[in-house]
Amino acid sequence: MMGRIIDGKAIAAELREELRREVGELRSRHGLVPGLAVVLVGEDPASQVYVRGKERACAEVGVASFGHHLPESTTTGELLDLIGRLACDPAVHGILVQLPLPAGIDEAQVLLAIPPGKDADGFHPLNVGQLATGSPTFRPCTPWGVMHLLRKAGVDPKGKEAVVLGRSNIVGKPVAMMLLAAHATVTIVHSRTADLAAQVRRGDIVVAAVGRPRLVRGDWLKRGAVVIDVGINRLADGKLCGDVHFEEALPVVEAITPVPGGVGPMTIAMLVKNTVEGAKRQSGLVGPV
Ligand code: NAD
Repeated sequence: MMGRIIDGKAIAAELREELRREVGELRSRHGLVPGLAVVLVGEDPASQVYVRGKERACAEVGVASFGHHLPESTTTGELLDLIGRLACDPAVHGILVQLPLPAGIDEAQVLLAIPPGKDADGFHPLNVGQLATGSPTFRPCTPWGVMHLLRKAGVDPKGKEAVVLGRSNIVGKPVAMMLLAAHATVTIVHSRTADLAAQVRRGDIVVAAVGRPRLVRGDWLKRGAVVIDVGINRLADGKLCGDVHFEEALPVVEAITPVPGGVGPMTIAMLVKNTVEGAKRQSGLVGPV
C-alpha cells in the first residue's frame, strides 16, 4: 500500500481562490484593497524566486503588492527608513522583508522595526509571544501552511505524537507551538539530538524542517505516519528534494507532502491570507484576534 500524496499545490490554489473571492468583496463592499510591501535586499537568486512567487500570488488574488528591491550595499539605517515609511503608509497592510538579509544588515533590529500590526511574516517578538501564549494575531506563514495541509488532509493532531525536526525561529519552533495548541504531544529534535531515528520513529505526525536532502529515511518512520516535508534542497543535478527520502517513505506512510508542490505553495498562500486579515483588522472590519 502506498501512502497518499498531499497535494500542496492544489490546496494552495484552492485557498488563493477563496481569498480572491474575499478580496473582491472587500473591494466592492468596503472599497478596501489589501496591500503588501515586499522588501528584497541584494541579489540572492533563491530570494528573487520567492519574492516573484509572492508578488505573483498577490496579483492573482487581487492584493496590491509594492515591490522595494534594494541594492546589496543598503545599510541598516536605510532599510529602517524604508520600513518607517511603509509603517505609515495606509495602503500597506503587510510588510514582508525577505530573509536572509545581506551580512552587513542587523536582521534582529529590522524585524523589531516592522510594526507588529503589519508583520505579515509573523516574526516580530510580539507576534511570536502571542503565538506562544495561545492568542496568535499574525501567524508565521510556513508553519501555518503546515497546519492547513494537515487539516485539509483530514489529520487532527489531538492526542497524537508529533515530531518536529529543526528548531529554527521560522519553522521548527513555531510549528511546534501550533501543534501543541492543536493538542499534539510534541517532540522537537535537532542537530544535537542523540538518536534522531528513534525519536522520529515515535511520530504519528512528522514535520521535517532541517535543510538536509533526504535525511529522514523510510525506516525512520512509523507505519501510517503523516509526513509534512518543509525542506527545500537543491541537488547536484539541479532538481529539488525535501528533507525526507520520498520514495522510501511513500510505502510506509499514510500521507506525505512532495517537494516541490507541498509546503512551498502553501507558505505563499498563507502570506497573502495574513495580508488580507491584516487589512481587515486595520480597517476595523474584525477584532484584533
Ligand atoms: P535553519 O537552517 O534555520 O534550521 C535548521 C534546523 O535543523 C536547525 O534547528 C538545526 O538544529 C536542525 N538540523 C540541522 N542539521 C540537522 C541534522 N543533521 N539532524 C537534525 N537536525 C538538524 O532552517 P529553516 O529556515 O528552518 O529551514 C529548514 C528547511 O526548510 C530548509 O531546507 C529551508 O529551505 C526550508 N524552508 C522551506 C520553506 C517553504 O516555504 N517550503 C520555508 C522556510 C524554510
